[in-house]
Amino acid sequence: MELAQVTIDRLFAAARQAQANAWAPYSRFRVGAAVLAEDGRVFVGCNLENASFGLTVCAERNALAATVVAGAKPIAVAVVGPQVGLPPCGACRQVLAEFGLDLHVLLTAQEPPGYQVFTVGDLLPSSFAFEQPSLR
Ligand code: ZN
Repeated sequence: MELAQVTIDRLFAAARQAQANAWAPYSRFRVGAAVLAEDGRVFVGCNLENASFGLTVCAERNALAATVVAGAKPIAVAVVGPQVGLPPCGACRQVLAEFGLDLHVLLTAQEPPGYQVFTVGDLLPSSFAFEQPSLR
């Protein structure tokens, strides 16, 4: 599935707004994410750091949670970080894979000289699945 440029621009704009609200007092590494749902709605998330660092949740997973709470199905996620080309962390890749390896992942930075497009399958070619194909 090809995403229209107007859709990509809409997603990055939403992700930038979310990024502005990132709670990142420890790393100052502010990230925003916007998920496009199958029905056209957009759900956003920002990173949420915690003094107990292991409790920190990334923008991508927060946006996915908002999508799921609304009963929507994610088909793409746009991520805005401090630098271009910073792909989602391993935990987020695995959580994104839950919604299909063909889910689009769009990456850019706060000041956009451009963006990158991947699928979750590109980023996580051997994801864990609850039911794996049987070995032969
Ligand atoms: Zn992450």
